[in-house]
Amino acid sequence: MFKWFRIAAKMSAGRKLFHAAWLFAFAALCAVPGAAAGAKDPLLAYGARIVGDDARTRIVIDFDREPHFSVHYIANPERIVVDLPATAFGFPAKDLEARGLFKDIRYGAMDEESARIVLTAARPVQLAFVKVQTDENGNGHRLVLDAEMIDKQKFAELVKTQSWTDQAEAAQTTSAIPQPEKTAPGDFVIAVDAGHGGIDTGAIGVDTKTEEKQVTLAFAKALADRLNKEPGIKAFLTRDDDEFLSLAQRVQIARQNHAGLFISLHADTLKQKDIRGATVYTISDKASDKLAADLAERENLSDQIAGKETTTEPPEVADILLDLTRRETQAFSISLAESVLSSFKDQVSTINNPHRHAGFRVLQAPDVPSILLELGFLSNVDDEKLLLDESWRGKMADLLTNAVKRYRTSVMANGG
Ligand SMILES: [Zn+2]
Repeated sequence: MFKWFRIAAKMSAGRKLFHAAWLFAFAALCAVPGAAAGAKDPLLAYGARIVGDDARTRIVIDFDREPHFSVHYIANPERIVVDLPATAFGFPAKDLEARGLFKDIRYGAMDEESARIVLTAARPVQLAFVKVQTDENGNGHRLVLDAEMIDKQKFAELVKTQSWTDQAEAAQTTSAIPQPEKTAPGDFVIAVDAGHGGIDTGAIGVDTKTEEKQVTLAFAKALADRLNKEPGIKAFLTRDDDEFLSLAQRVQIARQNHAGLFISLHADTLKQKDIRGATVYTISDKASDKLAADLAERENLSDQIAGKETTTEPPEVADILLDLTRRETQAFSISLAESVLSSFKDQVSTINNPHRHAGFRVLQAPDVPSILLELGFLSNVDDEKLLLDESWRGKMADLLTNAVKRYRTSVMANGG
């Protein structure tokens, strides 16, 4: 039991999904809702450089004003996390590509007030020097991070002796839970979850380089609007902005709002670029196949990408009632998945065996029937076109609404 709590600690190679935004486009960047998660006056990081080898590596980031920052170390895998106030990252992604001691570098919004840089190290590291220096003209401010190789034991000590009392982390755990609008007793509440967000961009489109987090948010909004047109249905979004939510936060938001359904939306990439079409996933201890297992492993990396501490697997809970609840919830989830696929039949292309299952952490609510819907694949040019097409999104939202209505009718007929 509970194997799906396990986090895959392996970075998947080649998934360096950087947010590419050029300095000259900064004005446009600020105009995009959520570029810095809606902050009024975000810092501007307008330049970045990385130099060095696998023993010492220096990172320099130029800011328009003095950045207040805090640094933390996280183990499994070894990461350095730099927390900042809301920041617009306006330098080309290639200027901060991982090298030297670092094998992966991400940066982006965490919520409205904070941003983060996560440096995943190839081996244990420490910052020998961290400082903000003013540039030659006394105008800009550059954050200099000098990393050096250390041994495993020293890194473990760094992790153990640091304190996490900064506000950035505290703010995240107390952030307001979104509420569905005016829920009446008897309303069927549905949590619509836009996959990824903020520092976790998700997949990147092959052709247009569109980020998965934008595709999922646009579709989530369309779906929630469509569902809310139905009497007795109240849909709400787990996030309505470009912010990061941990997988556990998504589950918690659904449960705290007493959602009767949880639908997580995605549009990932596959190595096999010819594969296209929708897939519906439900949770299971054991994956249905390799494709499902790989996808769940990548999805479950989201917290790690955002510099979250790896949660240890909770001890086996011998609770027969919880076990029964889980089984019942799983049966409902499967029934919803089947309802969705019968709506898609002859209307939307799906992959072979379109109902698959694996240990997705975002589907782990014991009491909320949950599915993860891969709308299509951003690795396929034809799918990518559809995902960006508003009328296609509208059609998909209609079909999903029909599926939800049919599911609800069958649950009510069975006294659920
Ligand atoms: Zn995804």
